[in-house]
Amino acid sequence: MRAALLTAPNQIVLTEVPTPAAGSGEIVLRVRAATICGTDLRILRGKKTRGVRFPSVIGHEFAGEVVEVGKGVQEFKAGDRVSVDPVIPCHHCAYCQNGMENVCANRTAIGYEFDGAFAEYVRIPATAVAGGHVYKIGDGIAWEQAALAEPLGCCINGQEHARIGLGDVVVILGAGPIGLMHLQLARAAGARQIIVSEPLAHRREMAVKLGADRAVDPHEEDLQAVVKGITGGLGADAVIVAIGIPALANQALALVRKGGRVNLFAGFSAGDMPPMDVNLIHYNEIVVTGTSALTRRHYEKALRLIEAGVVKVKELVSHRFPLEQIHEAFQAAEGGLGIKVAIQP
Ligand SMILES: [Zn+2]
Ligand SMILES: [Zn+2]
Repeated sequence: MRAALLTAPNQIVLTEVPTPAAGSGEIVLRVRAATICGTDLRILRGKKTRGVRFPSVIGHEFAGEVVEVGKGVQEFKAGDRVSVDPVIPCHHCAYCQNGMENVCANRTAIGYEFDGAFAEYVRIPATAVAGGHVYKIGDGIAWEQAALAEPLGCCINGQEHARIGLGDVVVILGAGPIGLMHLQLARAAGARQIIVSEPLAHRREMAVKLGADRAVDPHEEDLQAVVKGITGGLGADAVIVAIGIPALANQALALVRKGGRVNLFAGFSAGDMPPMDVNLIHYNEIVVTGTSALTRRHYEKALRLIEAGVVKVKELVSHRFPLEQIHEAFQAAEGGLGIKVAIQP
C-alpha cells in the first residue's frame, strides 16, 4: 500500500509499504478520511517527541471501512463504516482505575506507538478493538465528519475541565479547528456570551458564522478591554487557550474574573517555560486546568453530537487532498490559510 512515512523530523516520504494484515483480535481499515491535527504538525517539526517513532505512519484522526477482521473478532465485519478512538489505555494503572484513562501511565496511541492513518490502510490493535475503541458510524455522516470525533472528544474533555455551563461568559483564544469546536460546545452548554480572539480574518468570520458573539482581532483591539466591557468589569467566567502560544497562558489569567477558570487546552512545545503572574492565580483564586487527549466516553459523546448535528464539523474542513499530495496537505495545514485539512487516501 501507499503510506506517508515519517522518516525523520521535517521529513515525510510517500512510499510503498507492506499492507497490514489483521492478526488475532485485530481489524484492518481502508482509510477513507484522516484529518491533520496541530499535534501532527508539531510531530513533523520535531516539537513533539513522546511516542513518536521513525520511520512510522502518523495520523490519529480517522474513519474508514473495515476490510479485514482477525480471528475472534465478533462485532465487526468487512464493509462496516467505523471511526476509532486512537488513545489506548492499559485499564489497570492507577489513572485508569480512577477514570483517567486519557492520561494512563502506559498509554499508547494509534498514530504514535502504532502506525496511523496517513496511509491507504490502518491496522487497529487487538487491545483497541477489545477495549471498545472502534465505533460504528451511521450512513448519515461523511467520513471526514467521523474522523473529527477525535479532536471534538478532546474538546469535550477540555470543556469539562473548564466547567463551561449555563450563563457563562467564555473567551476562546484561537479560532483554528479546536477553537471553533470549543465555541460550538460552549454554545451548546448554554454559554451566555462567547468571545473569540483570532488574528486571521477568515477564521474570525467562521467563528461568527458558527455562533461567536464577538470575534476580536487581538492585534487591532484590546481583548481585555472588550471582555471587561461585556462583563461589567469583572472578567470572563472561563478562558480556553486553544492555541499553543506560551504567552497566551499568562494573558488568559488576566481575562477571567476572580474564581474564574483557565483551561490550557492546546499543547505547547517541549521546554516552553513562559513567565506567569502567579499572584493573579493566588489572589484571584483562579482555577487553572490542563487537558490531555480523551477517554472513550468523550469520543462516543463527540461522535453522537456530530451525528445529531449539534456540532458542525463539515464546515471546518477547508481543504481535501489525496494521499499523493501529503506535502501540500501539511503545507495547507501549517500555513493557516484554511481551517481543517483532510486527507482522502
Ligand atoms: Zn488530534
Ligand atoms: Zn492505564
